[in-house]
Amino acid sequence: MRHRIAVVGAGPAGLTFARVLHRHGYPVTVLERDPAPDARPPGGTLDLHEGLGQLALDKAGLLARFQVLSRPEGQAMRILDTAGTVLRDWQPRPDERANPEIDRGQLRDLLLGPLDVQWGRGVTRVAPGTRDGALVQFADGRQETFDLVVGADGAWSRIRPALSPVTPYYTGVTSVETSIDDIDTRRPDLGRLIGDGSVAVYGVNRSLVAQRNSGGHVKVYAKFRAPLDWHADLTGAEAIRSSLLTMFEGWADPVLDLLRQGSAFVHRPFYVLPVSHTWTHVRGVTLLGDAAHLMPPLGVGANLAMLEGAELAESIAGDPADLDETVRVFEEQMWARASKWAKITADGLERLVSPDPAEAIALFDQVQAA
Ligand SMILES: Cc1cc2nc3c(=O)[nH]c(=O)nc-3n(C[C@H](O)[C@H](O)[C@H](O)COP(=O)(O)OP(=O)(O)OC[C@H]3O[C@@H](n4cnc5c(N)ncnc54)[C@H](O)[C@@H]3O)c2cc1C
Repeated sequence: MRHRIAVVGAGPAGLTFARVLHRHGYPVTVLERDPAPDARPPGGTLDLHEGLGQLALDKAGLLARFQVLSRPEGQAMRILDTAGTVLRDWQPRPDERANPEIDRGQLRDLLLGPLDVQWGRGVTRVAPGTRDGALVQFADGRQETFDLVVGADGAWSRIRPALSPVTPYYTGVTSVETSIDDIDTRRPDLGRLIGDGSVAVYGVNRSLVAQRNSGGHVKVYAKFRAPLDWHADLTGAEAIRSSLLTMFEGWADPVLDLLRQGSAFVHRPFYVLPVSHTWTHVRGVTLLGDAAHLMPPLGVGANLAMLEGAELAESIAGDPADLDETVRVFEEQMWARASKWAKITADGLERLVSPDPAEAIALFDQVQAA
């Protein structure tokens, strides 16, 4: 028996869900708002953990190809104090495969493979419980009915309101992201400072992190506590750069050069859903990934999103008879695991952007020891 299944969103959650169903020969409709895969810059690099994102790729039959594409050396991590003194310089062993990095664009293309995504199909809402199933309404006015609609449409999900009245709230920590291209040619000194992975500097209630992507591309993240409208009076990249340089004044010159060299500046305030976000099960609709459990970006969101997608797809393909019961059981498992990680990442954010920078180093040591 083949149910009519749609997944809304072609991010890590939606694509992994669709790819695993596809592997099992199970049809699925993928609905994505973006008009094309490369309509937006894909964002920075992701580390995929052995028991989470890598497990999901294994379930999709894509682990071997991930191992070719990914950068195990990208796990390297250097920590400096604000004067530029190296406090930690962790290098992975050559065979270390716990958390290799992959560019988001590469991961998206890997997952896309043979999938037939319907691009440019923004969903506005879903109405469960109609006579013919869950009714999906599109931005262009059309509508379509499915037996199951999976909301994998991220932080500002349009599917979530069918299940839960909860919306994301601001953590009080914001981030400004900038990029540097061709680092090893343009600024080999900064290339060496960043190394093969990341360099992080922690100050009082703020931090600067620079992370190498493939092809000499670097993403720089300035994170700090501020009201949401802290930049309301700033217009243009130079005003933001100058405001950041004032905010990080006194930090070592090579560290500030990461901001001086950055091209454009993108604001990414950290929003979250409550740590234990659950809902009363509704036949015909469920959520995956950030739509279900948005948490601070401390390296697990995409991992959880992918594993959930893979697990739900496997359960559906393995036991298609009682779709509703399969989804109900999946939701319980997802909530239990996600709330554990939501708590860990919420505590982690408090320590990484903390009045006491020693907290960030202690957290790093704790994670390394584990
Ligand atoms: C700076 C930063 C760094 C991060 N680093 C890491 C990391 O190293 N490791 C990690 O595991 N996680 C990381 N994360 C978290 C990770 O990016 C997210 O948890 C992950 O992308 C969630 O995947 P998702 O598929 O649930 O949602 P998304 O990635 O948000 O994908 C949602 C998709 O749905 C589409 N969509 C949205 N609305 C609609 C609509 N109405 N109709 C149709 N389509 C729609 C969107 O266009 C998008 O393609 C990081 C996050 C940030 C901000």
